[in-house]
Amino acid sequence: LFAGETEFLKGVVAMSGLPGADRMEVCFAGRSNVGKSSLINALTGTKGIARASNTPGRTQEINFFTQGPELYLVDLPGYGYANAPLAVVEKWQKLLKQYLSGRQNLRRAFVLIDSRHGVKKVDEDIMKLLDSSAVTFQCVMTKADKVKEKDRAKVLEQVRGALAKHPAAYPEIVLTSSEKGDGIPTLRSIIASL
Ligand code: GDP
Repeated sequence: LFAGETEFLKGVVAMSGLPGADRMEVCFAGRSNVGKSSLINALTGTKGIARASNTPGRTQEINFFTQGPELYLVDLPGYGYANAPLAVVEKWQKLLKQYLSGRQNLRRAFVLIDSRHGVKKVDEDIMKLLDSSAVTFQCVMTKADKVKEKDRAKVLEQVRGALAKHPAAYPEIVLTSSEKGDGIPTLRSIIASL
């Protein structure tokens, strides 16, 4: 699944712009700076491709990447942009809701959580949205190399507590470090198993 090339396909601003649901897809959400670009780059073995999502103008789009012929990787960069004007935020949230509740080939959402910080309010918000959209989601802890073993346990406990409140949450948490490569093969095989 991950042997093929990764390419940026398009940024979608309205439901009519979605590519055909002709292959399975997974999406990634996370607060800005959580390490989402780094994770997508590590997963795909490409450098810089996920950066596309962080460029101005692309932050309120749903960004589609093709991963070989059988998989779409979808970056949801919009969440956590609290500074955007209200109208922009509302438009984005509406699109996000429509996408999450209507996309039949979407197999799983990955909610990225910084290993140092745990689950924050905006993470809770996206989890609620995933619950109400009936999209199974799984937590991926990023930057695992930045925390000591004992601090990690504490954060994991907080994350488990948060997940317990969400019916759409998949209980297994994936620990990753894009820097060191930890957890990347695990995440690839999780996606392949979907
Ligand atoms: P995004 O805004 O969520 O796309 O975050 P980025 O992928 O751009 O990462 C934000 C910052 O965290 C950058 O300075 C990265 O180098 C750093 N970073 C991301 N992943 C890791 C990781 O696994 N380990 C460490 N130590 N730093 C990371």
